[in-house]
Amino acid sequence: MSALEGRRGLVTGAGSGIGRAAAIELAAAGVEVIVQDLVHERAAEVAATIRGKGGKAAAAAFDVADEAAMRKAVAAAGGPVTLLLNNAGIAGGNIEFERVDRTAYMRMFDTHVWGSLNALHAVLPGMKAERFGRVINIASNRGQVGFERSCHYSGAKAALLGFTKAWAREFAGWGILVNAIAPGVIRTGMTLAFGEQAVHDEAQLNLLKRPGAPEEIAAWVRFLMEPTGNFTTGQLLCPNGGDPIVGV
Ligand code: NAD
Repeated sequence: MSALEGRRGLVTGAGSGIGRAAAIELAAAGVEVIVQDLVHERAAEVAATIRGKGGKAAAAAFDVADEAAMRKAVAAAGGPVTLLLNNAGIAGGNIEFERVDRTAYMRMFDTHVWGSLNALHAVLPGMKAERFGRVINIASNRGQVGFERSCHYSGAKAALLGFTKAWAREFAGWGILVNAIAPGVIRTGMTLAFGEQAVHDEAQLNLLKRPGAPEEIAAWVRFLMEPTGNFTTGQLLCPNGGDPIVGV
């Protein structure tokens, strides 16, 4: 039996790509998953897929930045939510600096940065009560080295590294471990929106010459949340195919 059996987990942006794979992986380990996503149909599909495999999941459709909706979804879980994957995200759209206006900046930071803070605010009381918590922030290789065509994306992802380090220090005494994962290019709706060729081209930058699969990130999520991750906090994991721009 998995050590996660019966725990409650919140996966944001779980309706697609990395979040979808992680929600399915955690449910397979016995986690009751709140499948959160902005798009109702996506969340409903993933929750139904999990239940179809015999797992437990509830769909919750709202903007990750919405405080009231977040609190409501966590309260509806019926007990402490002690696993959190901050994953909801949007691409930068390949825009140059001059086009990063306040609207683009606010949407990017609201989703990735405030959204992650908002989710932790909602689940933290339960984690403290249990003196147990596992938090994973999905960062990006682009938050490590920058991105010349989406500085707001790089900035938001870099902010998540600061959160990871700060939260790891602040909550270690409560048994709450906080880590970040910075994937390289992964084959998901986000990257495929730029076309197969763009995904292929970006993958040529890494040593393995292929994009990763969402399941290859989900496996790390489970590893960090299971007891295998019990001595790991404040760390950044980089499943990126050996991305030389990050440094291998
Ligand atoms: P995806 O587009 O397949 O999935 C993202 C999901 O987040 C979507 O279902 C979307 O509806 C949801 N979402 C977007 N805004 C939201 C909001 N405000 N509230 C709630 N849900 C929202 O993308 P993905 O590639 O699986 O991305 C997941 C995470 O991984 C993101 O944070 C992304 O920045 C990060 N990431 C992706 C890659 C990659 O190559 N795909 C690389 C590094 C990091």
